[in-house]
Amino acid sequence: MAIERTFSILKPDATRRNLTGAINARFESAGLRIVAQRRIRMTQAQAMKFYEIHKDRPFYGELVSFMTSGPVVVQVLEGENAVARNREIMGATNPQNAAPGTIRKDFAESIEANSVHGSDSLENAATEIGLFFDESDIVG
Ligand code: ATP
Ligand code: MG
Repeated sequence: MAIERTFSILKPDATRRNLTGAINARFESAGLRIVAQRRIRMTQAQAMKFYEIHKDRPFYGELVSFMTSGPVVVQVLEGENAVARNREIMGATNPQNAAPGTIRKDFAESIEANSVHGSDSLENAATEIGLFFDESDIVG
């Protein structure tokens, strides 16, 4: 096991319902440390680039509008096995399939408005962190 960094987003449905602290408490109690964090309004260009991998999926346009519909909190989480650990804490993409006790089971509104994003590999984590943070923003 190794100390890793992963990229996380608290999505607009979470900031709208004032769930920033409640969700951050889940990360911290699972042993993930928030080593960088910023609240931003994602631009359309940022959201399109971030979700480029889904550009041919039918939900792409809706997803970009959702991600730009309100403030988001972009974060870097650090800890043992952080990429996989964060995916476990988040739960399945569709909250109906998410395990009890996961963030998405407890907080998500729908498959789209599912409260959080977490990188799905160490390689993607590094790329995604680089889209939103400079190395000097991250204080481990
Ligand atoms: P994320 O990348 O946000 O961490 P994920 O890796 O669990 O989520 P992906 O398959 O990468 O899921 O989908 C990215 C995001 O697109 C989902 O989190 C969700 O907001 C949205 N999404 C995925 N599938 C659908 C769908 N069928 N309908 C609407 N939105 C969807
Ligand atoms: Mg994904």
